[in-house]
Amino acid sequence: MICLGIETTAHTFGAGVCDSGGNILSNEKDTYKPKAGWGLVPMDARKHHEDVAEDVVKDALEKAGKTMNDVDIIAVSQGPGLPPCLYAGMNFSVELAKKVRKPLIGVNHCIAHIEIGRLTTKLKDPVTLYVSGANTQIIAFTAGKYRIFGETQDIGIGNALDKFGREAGFEFPHGPKIEEEALKGKWIGMPYVVKGMDLSFSGIVTEATKKFRSGEKLEDVCYSLQESMFAMVTEVIERALAHTGKGEVLLTGGVAANKRLAAMVGTMCMERGAKSAVVPWEYCMDNAAMIAWAGVLAHKSGQKPINMKNAEILPRWRTDDVDTPWV
Ligand code: AMP
Ligand code: MG
Repeated sequence: MICLGIETTAHTFGAGVCDSGGNILSNEKDTYKPKAGWGLVPMDARKHHEDVAEDVVKDALEKAGKTMNDVDIIAVSQGPGLPPCLYAGMNFSVELAKKVRKPLIGVNHCIAHIEIGRLTTKLKDPVTLYVSGANTQIIAFTAGKYRIFGETQDIGIGNALDKFGREAGFEFPHGPKIEEEALKGKWIGMPYVVKGMDLSFSGIVTEATKKFRSGEKLEDVCYSLQESMFAMVTEVIERALAHTGKGEVLLTGGVAANKRLAAMVGTMCMERGAKSAVVPWEYCMDNAAMIAWAGVLAHKSGQKPINMKNAEILPRWRTDDVDTPWV
């Protein structure tokens, strides 16, 4: 079985192809870039996705050595995400699926991150840290579901870094620049906000901005910002490990590219005798190979295709509301 996946929850339009054996045949994307000093403007991102859709899909099929005739199912990220961006992907996918008369499978973006992580790292039953622009969740499979053990109560950790990055005058994406600056920095104090198992980042960004404006060195602010936010997520992951008794940690999402975060989580895991792994970069950022793979899993376990007469997007679809009978 060949699946074409389409991803458009935020800044990336992705198209990827995989087979039912978990072989990824292609993973193409084109990412919307906000203009300097701006964050993502949802309607601009939608326009971007609509403009590039056909070319990206064409590239993905070509790289996979397939044509639309070879495709058995199409999978689309149905949520969570920004409504204008989700509409771009859903409208495109519905049109395509109707044209080629193939079933269209709705995929939850967060679950897709976990499943491609399990596929590529070979971890079996991890506690997952999903840290991207918009999302920060600590997730584990218990009692028949992927459940959220802790999450941000306001902005995602990537958006927190990007907000401060804009203040510092960096270009998007800001995470890598902050990571580079932090290598030279020292601790100058920063709030630490863990509320039970949940997290909050927006006040920390305010404090970092205040420190920067009052003349603290950029490298010291970057270092302290990272240390505080990464220690917070590490604390919550450790408690999730202790509670569930699991022995693996999977790091995914764009922020998982950060070496300091991986080192901090890695040290905690080592001390507990647990394993940790970071999803390879190509599958860590928003991508469509993960949508294709999650589409295969859902289809094989009998998930009903989307009704194309009234296809819905699910902007607030929660990880713990997804049926995952394949796990
Ligand atoms: P995603 O939403 O999963 O595509 O991830 C995008 C987010 O990852 C953006 O907020 C980036 O700033 C962040 N990011 C990318 N590379 C790094 C890095 N090396 N360290 C921290 N954050 C990063
Ligand atoms: Mg993502």
